[in-house]
Amino acid sequence: MNLILVSRCLLGEPVRYDASPKTLEHPLLNRWRDEQRLVPICPELAGGLPCPRPAAEVAQGRGDRVIDGQASVLCRDGSDVTDAFIAGAEIALAQCRRQQIRFALLKARSPSCGSQDGYDGSFSGTLAEQGVGVTAALLSRHGIKVFDESQLEQLAAELDRD
Ligand code: SF4
Repeated sequence: MNLILVSRCLLGEPVRYDASPKTLEHPLLNRWRDEQRLVPICPELAGGLPCPRPAAEVAQGRGDRVIDGQASVLCRDGSDVTDAFIAGAEIALAQCRRQQIRFALLKARSPSCGSQDGYDGSFSGTLAEQGVGVTAALLSRHGIKVFDESQLEQLAAELDRD
């Protein structure tokens, strides 16, 4: 049975930068929970950041460039949290390898977890065109299929096909 790596905040845990959850209520998620497929992770906490913590963004939203050492993850005050973001992404990848996880359901628009979009680094609420979070980018690069909470049906279809 395929396991699914899932953002802890989507599971109702208050782990976001402002110590709030982003609870996702959906019958598919309930089914996967009942099937014991869900493997929770918060890459930012796993990487050593506290909760609460300052909000952070990636320049142009490009987490893939962070992995390549070409961009940083910065807080609004300019403090650099790149190392913690990369550490969290590597821990998420190690977890996937350990449990042979090939699918992830990660929170949209997060500088770690976002897979379809992300904020552009200006802290103005502007989305970047090719935005992707650091963890989502690293997992995708290693063949793990990453979905966000707007794509539950697509994830279900992939699981059925597999
Ligand atoms: Fe949620 Fe991911 Fe942010 Fe952790 S890093 S709070 S799991 S979106």
